[in-house]
Amino acid sequence: MKLKKGDTVVVLSGKEKGKKGKIVRVHPAGLTVVVEGVNIKKKHRRPTKSGEKGQVIEKQNPIASGKVGFVCPACGKAVRLGYKLEEKRKVRVCKKCGAEV
Ligand SMILES: [Zn+2]
Repeated sequence: MKLKKGDTVVVLSGKEKGKKGKIVRVHPAGLTVVVEGVNIKKKHRRPTKSGEKGQVIEKQNPIASGKVGFVCPACGKAVRLGYKLEEKRKVRVCKKCGAEV
């Protein structure tokens, strides 16, 4: 799991293919991520009291992390990420342009 909060990703498969957004949450196990504007489910809530209006609640649902690709901020493409060690620090690098991300 190389993705982290704040990364820009693009959906690679499914009905929302091509949508881009920022990761707002990464599931602790790394299997799913919540991406801004992706996989929004609308939920209608009925009024519970008389005189109250029904509401439409938009909920962002997680998406499988395997279905999204990292978008490199340097080259702007959906790329694979690699790691390199730099002064005992592990940094993520874009496999396409080599930029640290
Ligand atoms: Zn790049």
